[in-house]
Amino acid sequence: PLSLAERAGLIEPSATLAMGAEARKLKAQGLEILDFALGEPDFDTPANIQDAAVRAMREGKTHYTPPAGVPELREAVAKVYTDQHGVKTDPAQVVVSNGAKQAIHNALMAVCGPGDEVVIPAPYWVSYSDLVKLTGAKPVVVPAPESAGFKMTPEQFLGAVTPRTKLLMINSPSNPTGVVYERSELAALADAVLTTDVGVLSDEIYEQLTYGDAKPTCFAGLRPELPARTITISGVSKTYAMTGWRIGWSVAPAAVSKFIGDLQSQETSNPGSVSQYAALEAITGPQDSVAAMKVQFARRRRYVLDRVEKLPGVTCLPPGGAFYAFMNVASHFGRTLGGKEVVDSTSFCLAALSRANVALVMGSAFGAEGYARMSFATDLATLEKGFDALERFLAS
Ligand code: PLP
Repeated sequence: PLSLAERAGLIEPSATLAMGAEARKLKAQGLEILDFALGEPDFDTPANIQDAAVRAMREGKTHYTPPAGVPELREAVAKVYTDQHGVKTDPAQVVVSNGAKQAIHNALMAVCGPGDEVVIPAPYWVSYSDLVKLTGAKPVVVPAPESAGFKMTPEQFLGAVTPRTKLLMINSPSNPTGVVYERSELAALADAVLTTDVGVLSDEIYEQLTYGDAKPTCFAGLRPELPARTITISGVSKTYAMTGWRIGWSVAPAAVSKFIGDLQSQETSNPGSVSQYAALEAITGPQDSVAAMKVQFARRRRYVLDRVEKLPGVTCLPPGGAFYAFMNVASHFGRTLGGKEVVDSTSFCLAALSRANVALVMGSAFGAEGYARMSFATDLATLEKGFDALERFLAS
């Protein structure tokens, strides 16, 4: 029989995708599932982007591209960082990948290996720890509790650093908490980093989705020394409702990007050519559809916060960005809800799914027990039904 490599033991299937699959199974049985598990906009990809893709196909742009992406797209991404983020960026520093997820995987493969440590503040996006483990490096998880606004302090970072620390992974706006670090907070973290030899992977995929006073910060732009030790990750999936097109990128020092391109040339050759031209239109074309989607997200966020306030025993730190409410549900642990014993975030979410037909993701998947993540990338009518169902469930 064919036995699996040792590596297989390092990987857990993505919990968000797993909850989504569980929800789909119930849907297939004919149940109406109120699905708040998946992290993707419910909007269609804007028409100008779809049209650019069709045009690319008709023009025969359906062949292999250079492994790191078509030059026009790499140039357009470099221009965004140079002009909008104030970080002078050469197209050679940009590698376009199959979604931000592959960009993160490639970046970690480029700089981490056995014996290295990677500092990850928790709550963190589900994939970080597994992607680090895949390289042979060790994730060092630093809890950033709700009482600290789910933010890691410079002291905590310095306390976690050892001679083996290779990288700090940060994500602002954050999935799952929606937390957006203030510019001054990130600058303080940056100054702490600069007293060490540690590099930074800054995942800025939600950079354009912020609400109210919250402002995104491009980490590499905070100090002149940072671009030489930072890998910035972003992409079109969330901002332009393009999750299925699979386009993300890394911006890194040229030597790192050269390796990432070479790695990708052996891994996947290149991201889909048509998708690359769609992404080019996304970032260089009209931006009004982004503004329109943001208005909807802001409205839903307000609705979610109003309803959470009325949910017994549930609280939520208002998210400054992204499209998630990270609800503190710990006060319900030890209760029986809908006839199911609830002892932790997993049993809470499984009970909510089977008894209230509401799909959430357990906080434990994000390295934080006591929480359930609700995505509000869903229409208001579904959110309303979801909260009605949760109210009944929590009162059961
Ligand atoms: N980074 C974070 C924090 C995310 O939440 C996600 C998607 O859920 C990604 C990266 C991956 O994005 P993509 O779909 O472009 O691979």
